[in-house]
Amino acid sequence: MIEANAQINNYTYSYNIKTFMTKSTFIHSPELHHFLNTVLETNRTMNLTSVRDPQQAWNKHIIDSLQGLQTGLFDNPARVIDIGTGAGFPGIPLALEKPELQMTLLDSTAKKCAFLESYIQNQNLTNRIKVLLGRAEEWGHSHLHRAQYDVAITRALGSFSEVCELTLPFVKKGGHAILWRGKDAPAETQQGVKVLSTLCARLVSCESYQLPGHELDYHLVVLRKAKSLPGRYPRKVGVPKKEPLE
Ligand code: SAH
Repeated sequence: MIEANAQINNYTYSYNIKTFMTKSTFIHSPELHHFLNTVLETNRTMNLTSVRDPQQAWNKHIIDSLQGLQTGLFDNPARVIDIGTGAGFPGIPLALEKPELQMTLLDSTAKKCAFLESYIQNQNLTNRIKVLLGRAEEWGHSHLHRAQYDVAITRALGSFSEVCELTLPFVKKGGHAILWRGKDAPAETQQGVKVLSTLCARLVSCESYQLPGHELDYHLVVLRKAKSLPGRYPRKVGVPKKEPLE
């Protein structure tokens, strides 16, 4: 588990990430390969990902998704929601690696949800992976989903402020959000202190990692929800993006 607030020993953490990455580069989990192949195959007729090369897709989608394991937040059975999951990243690789997770995949694009639903049914995964079609701004107010998850995860959904507003409403008090962010995450988290306070969360950690074949640093940002959110969040559809909290 990443230590709360710690001036984490970056060296140790990066070392772990590197070890993990090297190992996982050689993972030959048939389920992970089958899922990626299905995405790439479907991508010929439906736009699911711009990454078409299988090795690049393995790194960018599978290895990147599995970085979330480093947080330790998936080591125990947990209810997890992936917000803006697209073709199922990072939610599906994490669910395939950790069968004890109850994973919900949320996306506002019907054809992506239909693809995910069909994959999950074909693989007999319906007992532990669910698909939810719609906007986070709306589902975040439903009693079935608001404050119901141990962990909310999200990758490539929007600005720091936007993803905080869209993910934190789903998290239980004391639960966590994990944001897959790019190279600017350290600055984003520093500038986002007030946003986090408005959304009743605090920063646990912001750790960098690298992906094979990519020069840039990526970051996993872990947030902890300290208490219930005011009922007005998330704001109406489109507002978190158009008028980001400051
Ligand atoms: N997480 C995936 C996809 C990122 S693209 C990945 O990293 O590969 C962003 C996805 O979020 C798109 O599939 C889009 O349909 C979805 N999305 C955007 N805004 C959303 C919202 N407000 N609620 C739910 N899904 C949203």
